[in-house]
Amino acid sequence: MVFDTIAEQAIYKGLDFVGTGDILHPKWMEMLKKGLEKVDEGTYQHSEHGTKFVLTTEVEDEQKVHHLLIFPSIQKVEEFREKLEPYSSDMYIDGRPKVDLTGVEIAEFAADSDSLIGPSHAFTPWTSIFKEFESLEECYEDQLKNVDFLELGLSADTFLADRIGELGKLSFLSNSDAHSPWPNKLGREFNRFELSEPNASELFESIKKRKNITLNVGLDPELGKYHLTACSRCYKRFSLKEAEKSGWKCNKCGGTIKKGVYNRIGELSEFEKPQSPDFRPYYLHTVPLTEIIALAWNFSNPRSSQVQKTWRSLVEEFDNEITVLVDTPIDEIENFTDSEIAFMIQAFRNKELDIVPGGGGKYGELERPAKVINAQKKETQKKLSEFG
Ligand SMILES: [Zn+2]
Ligand SMILES: [Zn+2]
Repeated sequence: MVFDTIAEQAIYKGLDFVGTGDILHPKWMEMLKKGLEKVDEGTYQHSEHGTKFVLTTEVEDEQKVHHLLIFPSIQKVEEFREKLEPYSSDMYIDGRPKVDLTGVEIAEFAADSDSLIGPSHAFTPWTSIFKEFESLEECYEDQLKNVDFLELGLSADTFLADRIGELGKLSFLSNSDAHSPWPNKLGREFNRFELSEPNASELFESIKKRKNITLNVGLDPELGKYHLTACSRCYKRFSLKEAEKSGWKCNKCGGTIKKGVYNRIGELSEFEKPQSPDFRPYYLHTVPLTEIIALAWNFSNPRSSQVQKTWRSLVEEFDNEITVLVDTPIDEIENFTDSEIAFMIQAFRNKELDIVPGGGGKYGELERPAKVINAQKKETQKKLSEFG
């Protein structure tokens, strides 16, 4: 995951603008300075592929809550690092430093360095704001005024999060991280902004003023690995009541049960149905195209070379992954590739793919839609009866 690789793969996914991640780490910063061109103070660009980067990192506070920061310039990154340094022992080791500071203190430092801050993957059970606190204010106190966004995370979406009243004040970001450039990892979730120029200051303006974010795109929350309450060792699922009754210990393997995002949002929510503010964009559910191809062929591994090859030919032919998934007429796809894939993309567009929900740290899984299986069965039966 060096800048060359990220920049190249981002093009195939249809991403123009990517967060650097880990920018507090001096070596990563060095790589940025060497590998990318400076467009302006907060925007960097890959010369060959044109992919732009904005300066971001996560920080872990003393209560193991993750915060996402977006910086307006290298200078501000360095100022912020200096402020945090006395409170961290792994600043030069980990891309996401742990600091002995509260959310309030980190938000204060973020404001001092003109940076944006918000909770990362806000509902997950290990390292998020809502595993620890009952409200934004409980975490950020008087610094809540400096918090402009909340990152939904893979196991949640707008429809779930806007059941919580206080979140109506914030921009939602549907970001995803990636630890490898595989196309089912990079850009699993993304945001669409309408900016006059794709640069950091326009991006800041948009997030701060809650405007010009025109679309959030992400996995169906059921595909996220913390959607349902489940054992973190054997992944057995539990209802909230069962988990509480067993003291959050799994009765099958003795492992720790982790509260799913769905249940956590249920506890925090005031509304049965989402009450989104006017500025909130639509949330589009998506699925990595390689997983759809694997599903169409009944392959268990979306990283198999055949799947990758077909994925590459599709995104090269139709511009990028999101156009294949959402925009390209299905008959064009069918003419170009095999009908199984076209069929499965259509099933995705019709919201007919079945999902075995994730939980406890295990991702949800796509299943061939019941409709398809039934249709195939019927077809077989018809043929058998023909032969009498
Ligand atoms: Zn995190
Ligand atoms: Zn278990």
